[in-house]
Amino acid sequence: MHATLPLLQRTQFPAIRRRRLETLQVNLGYVCNQTCVHCHVNAGPKRTESMARETVEQVLAYLEASGAETLDLTGGAPELNAHFRSLVRRARALGVRVIDRCNLTVLFEPGQEGLAEFLAAEGVDIVASLPCYSEELVDRQRGKGVYDASVRAIRMLNGLGYGREGSGLSLDLVYNPQGAKLPPPQAALEADYKRVLGESFGIVFNNLFTLANMPIQRFGSTLVSKGQFNDYMSLLHRAHRDENLGSVMCRTLVSVDWQGYVYDCDFNQMLGLPLALEKPAGGRSRPRLSELIGRDLAGNPIAVRDHCYGCTAGQGSSCAGALA
Ligand code: SF4
Ligand code: SF4
Repeated sequence: MHATLPLLQRTQFPAIRRRRLETLQVNLGYVCNQTCVHCHVNAGPKRTESMARETVEQVLAYLEASGAETLDLTGGAPELNAHFRSLVRRARALGVRVIDRCNLTVLFEPGQEGLAEFLAAEGVDIVASLPCYSEELVDRQRGKGVYDASVRAIRMLNGLGYGREGSGLSLDLVYNPQGAKLPPPQAALEADYKRVLGESFGIVFNNLFTLANMPIQRFGSTLVSKGQFNDYMSLLHRAHRDENLGSVMCRTLVSVDWQGYVYDCDFNQMLGLPLALEKPAGGRSRPRLSELIGRDLAGNPIAVRDHCYGCTAGQGSSCAGALA
């Protein structure tokens, strides 16, 4: 795979600083039951990296100390981490909103029986990737049979109340474009998804989040291989909108990797770009979550590079969809 960080180091992306922390986003490891073409963490069934109990305890300690309102769990497939259910239970007991970035097919994995019911009982919000409403494109990007299993999973979640008004159980879907282009307008695509999935399968969901593909990891490497990297970066630069700078997710989110190291966002985590403390604790340049306890991160500069234009191009892009 081609390294993309060296291509992103030189940048004119504006300097930005953190605001009050709202969300702790935790990557529980790279183990996944799928191997999607565009996976930006290169997750898969053969990966073994998974957050240990000790680090999970640090996550809970930080949640309690920081007062972060939301715990956003990602991976890999976060549910495949051995401590997933106890982490969810204890975070919910602290009154924290929990989001599970669920690939849907994991609900049918051996050993995951009762997972959907568990998520519903704990009131966990689900964000699930469905990069298209057509079977052919989903299976091409995420693997054969994924579309069919995803539809079955959404129907199961709908049966538990997910995506249904008044249930309090939120189910959001995520779209990302195929190839080197920006996502279409979010509201119009959401209406299309709702119509097609509703008419075909009786499926309901709350929101569709459209995300831009980041020029890093598998997708960035593919762009390099095809000779499209510079063209894609030019597209992002041309589409940059200053008004999106105020709401990029790194302003209010800290991202933690499976070993407990901290970053300004999930993309920086994948690039190995650590959160830069103005006065590094213990003189270290790669801080851990446990070192952030008691520190107010508001005002801390954010580690930006050229991939950041992926967050500010066009309607903007964040883990909760378009910014504009
Ligand atoms: S389901 Fe998600 S984490 Fe797993 S391989 Fe696909 S994109 Fe990566
Ligand atoms: S990639 Fe986006 S979220 Fe991450 S630091 Fe850059 S602007 Fe912030």
